Amino acid sequence: MVKRLKNYIGGKWVDSTATEYVAVENPATCEILAETPESPRADVDSAVKAAKEAYYEWRRTPVLSRSQYMTRFKNLLEDRFEDLARIVVEENGKTKDEARGEVRRGIESVDYAISVPTVMRGYKVEDISSGIDETAERQPMGVFAAITPFNFPFMVPMWFLPTAITCGNTYIIKPSPQTPLSMELTYELLDELDLPEGVVNLVFGGKEASIAVMEHPDIIGVSFVGSTPVAKIVYETCAKHGKRVQAQGGAKNYIAVMPDANLEASVANIMGSAYGCAGQRCLAGSVVVAVGDVYEPLRDELVRRASGLRVGYGLEETSQMGTVISGAAKQRIEGMITQGVAEGAQPVLDGRGAKVDGFPEGTFVGPTILDGVTSDMTVAKDEIFGPVLAIMHVPDFDSAVEVINQSRYGNAASLFTSSGKHAREFKYRVNAGNIGINVGVAAATASFPFGGQKESFFGDLHGQGPDAIEFFTDRKILIERWL
Ligand code: NAD
Repeated sequence: MVKRLKNYIGGKWVDSTATEYVAVENPATCEILAETPESPRADVDSAVKAAKEAYYEWRRTPVLSRSQYMTRFKNLLEDRFEDLARIVVEENGKTKDEARGEVRRGIESVDYAISVPTVMRGYKVEDISSGIDETAERQPMGVFAAITPFNFPFMVPMWFLPTAITCGNTYIIKPSPQTPLSMELTYELLDELDLPEGVVNLVFGGKEASIAVMEHPDIIGVSFVGSTPVAKIVYETCAKHGKRVQAQGGAKNYIAVMPDANLEASVANIMGSAYGCAGQRCLAGSVVVAVGDVYEPLRDELVRRASGLRVGYGLEETSQMGTVISGAAKQRIEGMITQGVAEGAQPVLDGRGAKVDGFPEGTFVGPTILDGVTSDMTVAKDEIFGPVLAIMHVPDFDSAVEVINQSRYGNAASLFTSSGKHAREFKYRVNAGNIGINVGVAAATASFPFGGQKESFFGDLHGQGPDAIEFFTDRKILIERWL
């Protein structure tokens, strides 16, 4: 019997009222790991009701006590670190080391939440007028929710829930139906904390549950992470329903390499950026812009290194790159490679039709490099979200900046150089929210906001860091005169 996932509502595991269940498949072995409910609006309503009822007492729980729950949560996560990493591999297909990195990053967000008592502060000015004092008090706001993607099934929810509840809000997560299992274990650990019932809730599901979250009048704010088309829908729908919203969307990240860059270090970084998590990272390098003379040696070295990558099942420690998420994703990625070739790109390394011994049905795509890519090609413009690197050749630094700024996305961009002047110009002029200088994956750590510009982000306050404190609290103004 395949396990059917239950929602976690009001401190209990409860059957969904769904009539449809979706298979959760290990993308390498094709084993059915579980069935996840397509929870309907009624399940979201129950979760919101529980979260709303819990809010009154929870915001009165001293902030230091709320933070201590997070210290215990962190310890439980550390105890189950390897189990979490294994589940991420099984449901997502990435390698064990990548999954470990994801779990570590997620725990760092719990660490940040532990610091909420020192960062959730208001401010006060005495004698704003004669004998009158003015205070901005920071207060929690109510029920918040997150709608999260498949590619970091543990880490992305951790960007939000720990900080939100430590600020005094109550919470609902609606994870990706493709990767619900790491959240199931995470909520088993949250359950061990004996939080007041309803502080944290989990509703499995897809579009219907997302829409119910976006439209629910008692949810005050929504954090979304996923593709740009859905991010736009979430941003518009939440705004229409009067909610706070932060919607982190898709990406097309460019990496420029100057002739004065350290070639060996640049290539090592670009490899990690383009092929880590099989390219399914919103910070994955997708287009290399080779400037001037570096083009040929850079391309040759990238092809040499990428050809040697060992593709395999993530649970085998020798694997350096795992699967993409599903058969549909494999088909879409291979279709985009084919389209790139049809538009004139040269497949100097072609990962279409990749096969791995022992995993005949696994959804593997081999590392791919398309050379001779120009800005008008689809592979230079659209998000591929797979292990495909496009190479463009431009004559100088200014042309590289121009090409990068043509993108409608603005999640991340990197420059490899030994020139401080070019590094500064790059940071100053490139329109992307996360800039790497000699760094291939410019990932904000938990105490910094996770940037994103143009079609990669809709909203103003980003996830993580001080922005998260702003997002999950309001400032109430108090003006006092005592006669
Ligand atoms: P997705 O947009 O398909 O799904 C994300 C979430 O939205 C899931 O929970 C899904 O169930 C829900 N959803 C899907 N369609 C919906 C609809 N029509 N209405 C309402 N909800 C809907 O994204 P994905 O495939 O799970 O994740 C990959 C995408 O996420 C990539 O585009 C990647 O760049 C992006 N991403 C962005 C960041 C970031 O920080 N900017 C981080 C990780 C992933």
